[in-house]
Amino acid sequence: DLSTTIAEAARLLAEARDVTLLSHINPDADTLGSALAVGLALHRRGVRVRVAFGDPEVVPESLRALDTAGLLVHRDEVPADPELLVVLDTASLQRLGPLADRVAGARGPVIVLDHHVSNTRYGTVHCIDEHAEATALVALKLLDEMDVELDEPIARCIYAGLVTDTGGFRNAGPAAHLTAARLLQTGVDAYQVTRPLMDAHPFAYLGMLSRVLGRAELDASAAGGLGLVHAVVGLDDAAGVRSEEVESVIDVVRSTAEAEVAAVLKELRPRRWSVSLRAVSRVDVREVAQYLGGGGHRLAAGFTFEGDSADVVAALKGALERVES
Ligand code: 5GP
Ligand code: MN
Ligand code: MN
Repeated sequence: DLSTTIAEAARLLAEARDVTLLSHINPDADTLGSALAVGLALHRRGVRVRVAFGDPEVVPESLRALDTAGLLVHRDEVPADPELLVVLDTASLQRLGPLADRVAGARGPVIVLDHHVSNTRYGTVHCIDEHAEATALVALKLLDEMDVELDEPIARCIYAGLVTDTGGFRNAGPAAHLTAARLLQTGVDAYQVTRPLMDAHPFAYLGMLSRVLGRAELDASAAGGLGLVHAVVGLDDAAGVRSEEVESVIDVVRSTAEAEVAAVLKELRPRRWSVSLRAVSRVDVREVAQYLGGGGHRLAAGFTFEGDSADVVAALKGALERVES
């Protein structure tokens, strides 16, 4: 069970001298915050630590404030045969992108910290809590087991993962709120952490949003009559803005009251799409995404798809009907 594997992970990390922590591609605050929190704790104990992710090549600007000790390295600096590997918030090897081969290459144990039900159980020590709102909570459990003193820089990383994965605590349970209080007591400034992560965008965002939202479509009969709203962010739309702006379009699209399911199609390159899915409460979009080769959580999931945007929407509507029935 979880406390056994957490204890095992803590024991391995207590003996480690060189630790590599990996986040999923297109990293968010949960995967990177969790990695940096554990990384910071180890770094302080004199362990050689590096944190990396497979794609993109640069660290998203809004996440840089979490790396207070400069632990993030470019993917090319990750050894082919890491001594001890920790993989965080990553449901499958494919989600590591170009760094996936480091798991097979690892000389020592591969510790997996996650909260995805769909986790494929790659690696050797599985610290997976499917009921945790964020991997950051699993990381905190590990830090507590390691007797790490929770200070502001570490708490900030945990808080960042927790606040984003819970949509600003909208779907957080009582335990997560109690944990949030504990994190804030270390001096974390909630507003300072959340504003760049969840609210602030360069002015160009407004123009991009207006173009993209102007073309959004609502199909009230999709998803067995529960409704689907979708928007398309083409390469042209994304040209003048950061990845953070593209990723946040789904938060606006999902506010459509007439739709149970919201989708944003993000063009990665011509005819190649990364799709974000959100549901309000009734449709399990993880199942929908899994049917199309992706994964995620019940109310937030995603997949990648090849074709033009109409092909993606048709495939999505087909999958929604299948999962409905
Ligand atoms: P987002 O829409 O924020 O990119 O992703 C929402 C959730 O879906 C995340 O938990 C993420 O793990 C999962 N997800 C997004 N895209 C993919 C994908 O292409 N494949 C898989 N397996 N999961 C995805
Ligand atoms: Mn994540
Ligand atoms: Mn997560």
